[in-house]
Amino acid sequence: MRSVKVEEFCQQFLHLWSRATNPHLQLFKQDPLHAKVDPAQAESFIETAESIGKQEARWYREHPQELQGIIDSLKINELPEAQAQQERYTFAVYKKTDHIMIDRNFLAQAQHFIEAQQLSRLLPATTLTELVFMHEVFHVLEYRKNLWTIQRQLHYQIGFLKKQARLYSLSEIAAASFVQTFYQLENSPTLLASCIIYCKNPELAQALVTTALKEQTIHRSY
Ligand SMILES: [Zn+2]
Repeated sequence: MRSVKVEEFCQQFLHLWSRATNPHLQLFKQDPLHAKVDPAQAESFIETAESIGKQEARWYREHPQELQGIIDSLKINELPEAQAQQERYTFAVYKKTDHIMIDRNFLAQAQHFIEAQQLSRLLPATTLTELVFMHEVFHVLEYRKNLWTIQRQLHYQIGFLKKQARLYSLSEIAAASFVQTFYQLENSPTLLASCIIYCKNPELAQALVTTALKEQTIHRSY
């Protein structure tokens, strides 16, 4: 396997960060049910999820006490390292309304990496740990407030069977939009996943950035 050059990775990542125009659409496309949604409806779903994230972020920026109250009501512990070492990397998880587990060691390592590579200037007011933590806080809020992203069910049919299910990608889009607005980032925090993964698995991180850049190009050529 070709070894990954850190300078090359950072250059490509910065390129992606400055030009990625559709990270929400990319999240939507990862939804197992995305093909069952017609494109016009998909667009409106994505827009609604995005605006809910923004709206909540603006409200909590103006009401920091309320946000602190929610954070204080949570049980927060360390995510066991074993979970972070599988093929798919998990930085944090939430359990419905009151529990967040976060891999602080992993995120501290990643923070160290982005500082060493001068990428931390992209997060002038925060750290990777805070971004990931606030992402999970949004999921808690979603449940406590029963937001649209929880309520929205997709109705679809398989043969004669009528089914309904949640589109989990809408929650991810709203959470990303929440974090982006809350910390006033220039682009979606989901793009930063490759930087977090880099310190554990540079090959995978490089592959993620390369694929994301290609998807941008395809999208733009339509
Ligand atoms: Zn999430």
